[in-house]
Amino acid sequence: MKRWLAIPLWQRVLVALALGIIAGRMWGPGAESIKIIGDIFVAFIKMLVVPLIFFSLVAGVASIGDIRKLGRIGWRALLLFVVTGQIAVWLGLFLGTVIAPGAGVDTSSIQMGAVPEPNETTWRDMLLGMVPQSPVQVMADVNVLPLIIFSLLLGIGILMAKEEGEPVLKIFDSGAVVMQKVTMVVMELTPFGVFALMAWVAGTLGFDALAALGKLVFLNYLGCLLIIFVVYAAMIKFIARLPVGDFFRGIVDAIAVSYSTASSNATLPVTLRCAERNLGISNSVASFVISLGATINMNGTAMYLGLATLFGAQIFGVDLSWGDYFLISILGTLGAVGAAGIPGAGLIMMALVFGAVGVPLETIAFVAGVDRIMDMMRTTTNVSGDAAVATTVASLTGEIDKAEMISADDV
Ligand code: ASP
Repeated sequence: MKRWLAIPLWQRVLVALALGIIAGRMWGPGAESIKIIGDIFVAFIKMLVVPLIFFSLVAGVASIGDIRKLGRIGWRALLLFVVTGQIAVWLGLFLGTVIAPGAGVDTSSIQMGAVPEPNETTWRDMLLGMVPQSPVQVMADVNVLPLIIFSLLLGIGILMAKEEGEPVLKIFDSGAVVMQKVTMVVMELTPFGVFALMAWVAGTLGFDALAALGKLVFLNYLGCLLIIFVVYAAMIKFIARLPVGDFFRGIVDAIAVSYSTASSNATLPVTLRCAERNLGISNSVASFVISLGATINMNGTAMYLGLATLFGAQIFGVDLSWGDYFLISILGTLGAVGAAGIPGAGLIMMALVFGAVGVPLETIAFVAGVDRIMDMMRTTTNVSGDAAVATTVASLTGEIDKAEMISADDV
């Protein structure tokens, strides 16, 4: 047991992935019988959705602190978070539409469980449905959009209550940490879930399905690389007006740690160190923008949520309208805000977007086997984004020591 736990989780997951594919190919349709292990894993993931969003979103909003005091830095950072998040999710939707990774997969052998109702409601119903009339009901129904709105309002309320709100804030801060620990425990099931799910996909759905998953992984990497090397690079060059090469050289450590841990939170200390020591960003901007960004700025995750929703719609033949695309773009950004900076958080948030546009939740089981490989790249994108926004905000507000950044190569 100790030896098993000593192997890094991502290595165990990759081995499980490979063994699962081999076992499934050898076993054939009989592999269906072990799918239950994967279903249990996915059920545990769903268990996390409500408490994780609730605690981490409230804590995230409330951690903004005094908005007025931090206004100068805060509004710029928030604007950049929102704009890059929207670019990311639309990039995911674009790649998913143009390349259609899920087209042509025969899923008729998949037994459908809970298929969410397709979204046939009117705009008026939808607006009304977003109001969390009964917060407890909203949680019991795992109705994520009103839950997000309730969490945002609660976070704002805590900010407004100042000192008197502090005890409540403490509960949410500590609740968010506790839920991250619970998630880590659930993530220990990943190798078993991945093995079972990959064996099921490889055994019952055949080569088409594996090829579709391969395309999804490829597009996830392509989208993330475009965000890092086009969107962030342009932001550093044209808005921050700083040398792009020096920026990337300065964050190499954070890139390495985020890729191997798949956790923005675990990488946070390294990102902060890179920002202050290698990029020359002042402590106040670095700690505010990067800590906040680790929780709410997740462009890799936003891009993936857009892409994965289209993937699910394609494999299960769900038609999406333009209205659905807009809904995905909003929910994808909100899902990325609500996702905690821990491994697998993006997978959990898929339930949020899928439910709203009628994509079957079975998609989660389908992609869970390859999620870790994609998560590593998403997290690298998320962490690089935090550093890029911090650098840009610091440059715009004169909180960066440019000489420090440019001489960073000897650090
Ligand atoms: N693991 C990612 C992060 O920590 C979140 C995700 O799963 O997309 O940034």
